Amino acid sequence: SAKVIDGKSVAKHIREEISTEISRMKEAIGVIPGLAVVLVGDRKDSATYVRNKKKACDDVGIKSYEIHLSEDSTEQEVLKYISEFNDDPSIHGILVQLPLPRHMNEENVLNAVSIDKDVDGFHPLNIGRLAMRGREPMFVPCTPKGCIVLLHRYGVTIKGKRAVVIGRSNIVGMPAALLLQREDATVTIVHSRTKNPEEIVRQADIIISAAGQPNMVRGSWIKPGAVIIDVGINPVDVRSKSPRGYHLVGDVCYEEACRVASAITPVPGGVGPMTIAMLLSNTLSSAKRAHNFD
Ligand code: NAD
Repeated sequence: SAKVIDGKSVAKHIREEISTEISRMKEAIGVIPGLAVVLVGDRKDSATYVRNKKKACDDVGIKSYEIHLSEDSTEQEVLKYISEFNDDPSIHGILVQLPLPRHMNEENVLNAVSIDKDVDGFHPLNIGRLAMRGREPMFVPCTPKGCIVLLHRYGVTIKGKRAVVIGRSNIVGMPAALLLQREDATVTIVHSRTKNPEEIVRQADIIISAAGQPNMVRGSWIKPGAVIIDVGINPVDVRSKSPRGYHLVGDVCYEEACRVASAITPVPGGVGPMTIAMLLSNTLSSAKRAHNFD
């Protein structure tokens, strides 16, 4: 049965490395990395993500600043805070929690973040550089970067392999495909309009799934020995079994996949913890770069 890719433990290890680096930088040059988080509106899930990110910052020694604006605030207000953070030398990373309220133009807001502080890697210039050969983005989006780091830490060869990414969103699927291609995989993207996805997925040595569809990828879709990175986090209703009324499953039918794949990430405890670890890592890199410290 498949080896379990333990994202929780890799993420913990990475957070420890980051914490050590932050202490070393503080002692050597007196700089503490700073992350500004902009939250707009009252979505409960967004508030939870922001809380988790702030706690993770505290744990490694990153100073976090939060601006919480009401649902009916204007795009101008958001842009004003971003501009202040752009100019503030104690801030090395700026994160705008998505989604924004519908009356705001997400593109305008993401464009306003200085590319040297774009720790989410969502600025079009960073995405553009990710797509271009011979160019280096300042930052790579956290969730896809976490997927690649897991493959590296588990010694999975990417070069020359067939990789299939399921999903083409701007925050996960598309950048994941670009990253795999940069690592010399042969990449195919499967999305909601793809015909016979199972035939395509079955050719993959490496599968990264970010479709948001519970248990969509069945055992029969998987080539024996494939490595599976399951990004999906899908609540499934099991009112009778769980006190919360739901539990979380991935895009991949875990039990079936375990019998066919050579390695797989669990949900939860796979990619999820890596995302925040990569945010901390991007913030530390940004502070190091701003102060010429390595
Ligand atoms: P999204 O809804 O923006 O994109 C989903 C993508 O999957 C789309 O491109 C769509 O074409 C494709 N898709 C949908 N149904 C499909 C189907 N039946 N077959 C093939 N492709 C299909 O979602 P997202 O923001 O990219 O997130 C995807 C999943 O990853 C969600 O479950 C989300 O909760 C999870 N996620 C996890 C993390 C993490 O930290 N682990 C971070 C972000 C998102």
